[in-house]
Amino acid sequence: MSVIGQEEGIQHGSMRGFRQHNRRKVPVTEACGCLQAKRDEDAAKSAARQAGTAPRAAAQHRWNGSRHSGTSRPEANTAVRADCPTEGCGQEAADRFPKQRGWVRVHVSGSTDPARDFCSGSCATYGIALAELRMDNAA
Ligand SMILES: [Zn+2]
Ligand SMILES: [Zn+2]
Repeated sequence: MSVIGQEEGIQHGSMRGFRQHNRRKVPVTEACGCLQAKRDEDAAKSAARQAGTAPRAAAQHRWNGSRHSGTSRPEANTAVRADCPTEGCGQEAADRFPKQRGWVRVHVSGSTDPARDFCSGSCATYGIALAELRMDNAA
């Protein structure tokens, strides 16, 4: 049985309702609240995008998880950026450059801070600023 044109049962005022409109080809209207629900959803999504990390972080966690599984002791060189949820971001650079797309290796000449890998340009910028605070004055 086709649901096309059936308005009954649509959960108006929610994203679920909005999708039901589309599936049933029932026009979405301001009055039923579904347009507002769609706007709210879009606003939430763009807020998440501005916060940064959401979609990429999951894949990176998989990659890091396979490498670091089993290590529970706190590392001496833990992430310098406390608010970045990406595992390994800000850690002292290993021999191998991380294979993830978009990662940036940072080393400031004359800094006492070692080279570090960051998950994104914005994290790297933070790392550069930190390294510049740790210049080796004796050099
Ligand atoms: Zn509706
Ligand atoms: Zn990061």
